[in-house]
Amino acid sequence: MTKRTLAALGLVFLTATGASAQQASDTVAPERATGLAVAKVVTAKTHMVAAAHPLAAAAGEKILADGGSAIDAMIAVQTVLGLVEPQSSGLGGGAFLVYYDAGTKRITTLDGRETAPMEATPKLFLDETGQPLKFFDAVVGGRSVGTPGTVMLMQEAHNRWGRKDWKSLFAPAETLARDGFAVSPRLATLIATEGDKLKAFEATSTYFFGADGAPLKAGTLLKNPAYAETLSTIAAGGAPAFYTGPIADAIVDTVRMSGKNAGVLSLADLANYRVEERRPVCIDYRALEVCGMGPPSSGAVAIGQMLGMLENFDLKALGKDNPESWRLIGDAQRLAFADRERYLADTDFVPIPVKGLLDKTYLGERAKLLDGDKALGNDAVTSGKPEWDHAFNFGRGAAIELPSTSHFVIVDKDGNVVSMTTTIENGFGSRLMTGGFLLNNELTDFSFKTHDDGMPVANRVEPGKRPRSSMSPTIVMKDGKPLLAIGSPGGSQIIGYVAQALIAHIDWGMDVGEIVAMPHLINRFGPYDLEAGTGAEKLAEPLKALGYEVKMGEMNSGLHAIALSADGLKGAADPRREGVAVGK
Ligand code: GLU
Repeated sequence: MTKRTLAALGLVFLTATGASAQQASDTVAPERATGLAVAKVVTAKTHMVAAAHPLAAAAGEKILADGGSAIDAMIAVQTVLGLVEPQSSGLGGGAFLVYYDAGTKRITTLDGRETAPMEATPKLFLDETGQPLKFFDAVVGGRSVGTPGTVMLMQEAHNRWGRKDWKSLFAPAETLARDGFAVSPRLATLIATEGDKLKAFEATSTYFFGADGAPLKAGTLLKNPAYAETLSTIAAGGAPAFYTGPIADAIVDTVRMSGKNAGVLSLADLANYRVEERRPVCIDYRALEVCGMGPPSSGAVAIGQMLGMLENFDLKALGKDNPESWRLIGDAQRLAFADRERYLADTDFVPIPVKGLLDKTYLGERAKLLDGDKALGNDAVTSGKPEWDHAFNFGRGAAIELPSTSHFVIVDKDGNVVSMTTTIENGFGSRLMTGGFLLNNELTDFSFKTHDDGMPVANRVEPGKRPRSSMSPTIVMKDGKPLLAIGSPGGSQIIGYVAQALIAHIDWGMDVGEIVAMPHLINRFGPYDLEAGTGAEKLAEPLKALGYEVKMGEMNSGLHAIALSADGLKGAADPRREGVAVGK
């Protein structure tokens, strides 16, 4: 430990911004030298929502104020997000819910991930010559569309924990869809940058572009009567009215008639869709318990592996400004990603050594690889050999994961907690639209290549299988009570965003406003990604000196968090997006 403690006396980088860990509640701190405002910390006594759009957060908050449960509010938040932030999540996508029930004091995780159609084969994303398709050639069109899971997830959660009448929960989104809402600056920018991909399909093109073909501008009042109709049908008929009948017919037609990249989704795929309850994946970290979503998400396993390795080092003494902290965090993440690439996939299809991967002895051994004082060489970053009750060998997969998605957190007056990450995968998903909502491209989260070095890839496409995710909805528990609920969008960077926020909160004592706003430093595959225009840039030279290749760029997280304590709730929304925390 001596070397580690000595390094703790090292250089101070990020504090040069002058940000204090004690930003006052309900104030927006002055712009930091990092280029990011510290997020406003909102306090509340009884209930709160933190979500990616003010209209979605407000709809959820109203349900809570009217005595609804966190799950009731989730349905209002999700259906409004599907309207006002349609590029990120919605009825045509999938989601993972991590839910703490205050009555039973239990965490339940529900998997509403999209599934591959029964007609899909491992060669779905290979061209005629057997080569993997280019990412966007695979994404745009019906080929990438998996059976959506979000509507069934809402239904299943409501059946278990809903308090208010199902139908009433659709009213806020339906009213907004009929009356119209102002296109947000973020949505307008994304439409404008999307251009041709969105114009490939008529329904999508008509919705996102004016009659003159110009992309919708920020502030435009946008109505979505088709979405209002869809919501009213689901409100009246429940999830079955989505998975069978006219809505299902239209989804299948849209996917199968989408031109040269048509897909194979069928009515039977929709009718047979099931939400799966999965065992929560929890790991002890410094006297707390960090719980999240297990496979088919790689989120909680990868975060658990990172934390399990890092627990062997005194990050608190090292501090957030010390390059040594980031060497340890970066290389722990690389080692977790090496295991992820080989082992993580849908456990219904592929045996995965989840227990072995999270075993503290195994992680202690992996942590010894971090004992040096330089970045690990690429050759040293290989998957480990976790304990396993039956042997199975997989090849390394290759999935391309680009960021979009949305995360929200809700706490109700009884202390029930929702942490939900929800997605249609890429921004605007497959670009196909029906019933006023976009269809996902979640199947491109599978590995395009089926084999590696003669061995099958765990995350290859198979009929009925769920693509591996990085989504990491998380609830941190202290003495059996929820302490923090958090998650983020961001493709495979989600894992690093959430892990970093957890370390910042737990080891460095930073509050919710700071952890959602702090500069990002992420290392998945060797090069260190540093968030451009922030204090992270100051670590570029020291990290290079440690042997890393450094890349500066935009890092578009959307962390939303609520901290719970005996004194009440503190929530914050990532200043990189348009979200807010609201509560009473
Ligand atoms: N489809 C991704 C996943 O499930 C999330 C996409 C994103 O956050 O951009 O891991």
